[in-house]
Amino acid sequence: MTEFFSNTASLQLGIFVFVCVGLWAAEALVMPTPIGVKARHARGNALFILSALPIQLVMVGLCMAASRWTGEHRWGLVYLLPDAVPSLVRFVGLFVLLDMLDYVYHVCMHKVPVFWKFHSTHHRDSNIDVSTTVREHPGETVIRNAFLILWVLIVGAPVEVLILRQTFESAMNLWAHTAIRLPSPTARVMAWFIVTPNFHHVHHHARQPYTDRNYGDVFTIWDRLFGTFAFMPKSDIIFGLELASVTAARSRPGLSPAL
Ligand SMILES: [Zn+2]
Repeated sequence: MTEFFSNTASLQLGIFVFVCVGLWAAEALVMPTPIGVKARHARGNALFILSALPIQLVMVGLCMAASRWTGEHRWGLVYLLPDAVPSLVRFVGLFVLLDMLDYVYHVCMHKVPVFWKFHSTHHRDSNIDVSTTVREHPGETVIRNAFLILWVLIVGAPVEVLILRQTFESAMNLWAHTAIRLPSPTARVMAWFIVTPNFHHVHHHARQPYTDRNYGDVFTIWDRLFGTFAFMPKSDIIFGLELASVTAARSRPGLSPAL
């Protein structure tokens, strides 16, 4: 079992690195930002990995332990379902439920002042690209995983569901931050179902109420259901937080506020 987890963790990490590097290379090819400027920006964000990775590895172990415990004790909402319910239905139900709970987590990070102190580090990036995904205060790494453990204990997510869901969610998170936006008509259609870069970039707009919109992680339905969905033309989006960040982004040579 230990070997299974270490192999799975390696596979997850491998997929994350592969998607991250691939999207970063695609951005470098397509976007007008000089490669040196882009590399310096990525290096600044990559430094956050140094503090987040050890915490993440420990917390993933705790999360898996919580998942195993729920399985052994048949604890959690999923065990209220009749045994006749097919595994695929359970899997899809848990996947969607965990996505809604991730939406709740993201709202909490914005609305609870002490959580926002940590989450604002992610929002302070005034030039969003795929490297922004790893820009996370170590305090948020702890809080994010603590929430995930809580969700696992509530829903009773089995290890297989958790691994598949977290791998898919990580890839979606990278995709949501990429600087390459889709053509508006395509993005609008896709945003009825799943998160796109166009959708998530609105969440990184420097000013309210847009910073508190489009919290979705994989599916956009939660923002539509709970009234936090917003659209904004890409030419109007200015990344960062508050006026100081906006001014800094505008005056920085080689970087456009809305790439
Ligand atoms: Zn946020």
